[in-house]
Amino acid sequence: LRQGLDKTRRNIVNQLKAIVGQGPLNQAGVAEIEALLLQADVGVEATDYIITALQNKLREEALPPEQAIAYLKQILRDMLDRPQEKSQKQFFAPEKDAFNIWLITGVNGAGKTTTIGKIAHLAQKSGYKCLIAAADTFRAAAVQQVKVWGDRSGVEVIANPGKNTDPAAVVFDAIDAAIARQSELLLVDTAGRLQNKKNLMEELSKIRRIINKKAPNAKIESLLVLDATLGQNGLRQAEVFSQAAELTGVVLTKLDSTAKGGVALAVVQQLGLPIRFIGAGEGIEDLRPFSSYEFVEALLS
Ligand code: GDP
Repeated sequence: LRQGLDKTRRNIVNQLKAIVGQGPLNQAGVAEIEALLLQADVGVEATDYIITALQNKLREEALPPEQAIAYLKQILRDMLDRPQEKSQKQFFAPEKDAFNIWLITGVNGAGKTTTIGKIAHLAQKSGYKCLIAAADTFRAAAVQQVKVWGDRSGVEVIANPGKNTDPAAVVFDAIDAAIARQSELLLVDTAGRLQNKKNLMEELSKIRRIINKKAPNAKIESLLVLDATLGQNGLRQAEVFSQAAELTGVVLTKLDSTAKGGVALAVVQQLGLPIRFIGAGEGIEDLRPFSSYEFVEALLS
């Protein structure tokens, strides 16, 4: 993870150390930290929150360098953990002894297919019986691509060979297959056409209706795959999806190819959604369940 966040860290850490290294943190230093956070795509809202917290603390006591960094880390960890207060603090995983259905959403190119492959691999490795539904039937290549990842991870892919098939019909078949095979996790690849929000909403709600009917007790998660290299621009996409898809969490991809890793904080602050996984590479192993501790250490140490 440290390596994955290298680009973001390199921009931040040295400057941060230079700012706080000069002695107790003062208001001029706080202003420099503010600029640094904005530069790392933390976003205005999240940056304001962090800076206010730092200033409040400074009013109470002087912060020597080590304490300043430790306090900053604590603010960031608390922010990142806030959306999951209700859920458990440990790594996110499918619920045991349940039928988990995870809808994977996101615009084309965000890394949806790759992420499905990686999650399938991780779940399989962790002992879950897993199945993939290729319900992105809009893109001809998508089904093929998801099958390649299915082969790589050794997870069966349920697809409908016909052209222009209904995504909900694929999900219907996949739930039957999952129940027959006693699968614990069904990953559903969905179409990423952001251009047409109405279609997107209709498609996703149809899929949900099928799930509610056929697997009423399933534990449903709706994860948005978000390309970190887009920084703040990705957030706008995320807002559209969060209106359409009843999202429960975010997978942040391509952290290895960007200095905009700070966008994780913007996601949490602006969307109120927890980060569940992070992708930092194109390989099957390059996915980590999210930990605020690991993330902040990788960013600021
Ligand atoms: P989809 O259209 O959303 O299904 O996107 P794909 O899964 O096909 O991924 C689009 C491109 O992004 C591919 O070239 C992937 O290899 C690449 N990609 C996906 N995740 C990551 C990641 O975490 N890091 C890097 N560097 N590339 C990624």
